[in-house]
Amino acid sequence: MLYLDANATEPVRPAAREAVLAAMDTLGNPSSTHAAGRAARKLLEEAREAVARHCHARAQDVVFTSGATEANALAIHALGAGRVVLIGTTEHDSIRAAAPEAVPVPVSADGTLDLAALETLLAMHPDALLCLMAANNETGVLHDIAAAGRLCAAHGARLHVDAVQAIGRCNQDWLGLGASSFALSGHKFGGAMGAGALVTAKGLEIRPLMRGGGQEMGRRGGTPPLPAIAALAAALAEPYEAERIAAHRDAMERAAIAAGAVVMGAGAARLPNTVCLALPGVRADAQLIALDMAGIAVSAGAACSSGKVTASHVLAAMGQGALAGQAIRVSLPWNVEEGAAERFAAAYAAMAKRALRPRAALA
Ligand code: PMP
Repeated sequence: MLYLDANATEPVRPAAREAVLAAMDTLGNPSSTHAAGRAARKLLEEAREAVARHCHARAQDVVFTSGATEANALAIHALGAGRVVLIGTTEHDSIRAAAPEAVPVPVSADGTLDLAALETLLAMHPDALLCLMAANNETGVLHDIAAAGRLCAAHGARLHVDAVQAIGRCNQDWLGLGASSFALSGHKFGGAMGAGALVTAKGLEIRPLMRGGGQEMGRRGGTPPLPAIAALAAALAEPYEAERIAAHRDAMERAAIAAGAVVMGAGAARLPNTVCLALPGVRADAQLIALDMAGIAVSAGAACSSGKVTASHVLAAMGQGALAGQAIRVSLPWNVEEGAAERFAAAYAAMAKRALRPRAALA
């Protein structure tokens, strides 16, 4: 299979697999005081320090969670309390669902945040919490987090960055760009599913969403998922060949355009591994199935949500609602192999030719 759905989940890194096994062989609950517990605690704290080091944060400001859905919800709960919450219109459902009353900040046609609109909203709500994704999961479009951070700082607002798709692929220093906090999810960069983190700026207090045994210094109750946390830390240390991956992505993109595709967010800076391709007049699920039959895994629409294919709010927010049901996301994994672009190009061209032919014949 040619796996091109890395934004749903990246293949596990070998170092992460080893870390899972080592953690599973470590007897003990990190909260226990005996020697076994202390060994588990040591693993947990080493992982916390590794995350802090990679993300330019302090270890005590890293709160492990079950993933980014929980980390985003925790950020909004803890850092948005008593504040107006502003969210970009292309945010992930985990942000949208956690802030149902949020004030939307529009994006431009290329999917980047409308900074003038943000400034107007910040003038109205100076102590807001702005939630902004570093990179969009469907289009790969990067927001200008540094610019948003400067605007938030100028008004006294807080900025929470959903860094899920960017961590491990581009910049890691979100606090340095002005974020008060950011969320990450281990399986999105080759760790194991089941662990993520909320990382905050120095001294921010986190009121827990889940209370319990007082774990994570009272900020997140529940026994931490140690194997997945160890995998997260191990995966974060792995190199990412952005240029190699972007070269494959660019070749796939060129081939798809030649076959009739339109690139969503084409004018914006994007992740190296992602392209969202609309094929006008051809349903996304039909494209996905045709590619699946050719042994190629891509996703349609916001496909990280439980297999359902719904019209994408991301493309609608970019003024591309008409193409929303006709776009697939191609997201290359860290270990994409030589020859992948050629294989994709051939399958995509064949799919497009078959799908578009009957219409041409009728016309
Ligand atoms: N934010 C973004 C941008 C994502 O792509 C995802 C996963 N699709 C999440 C948050 C949620 O991550 P998880 O499902 O690992 O909790």
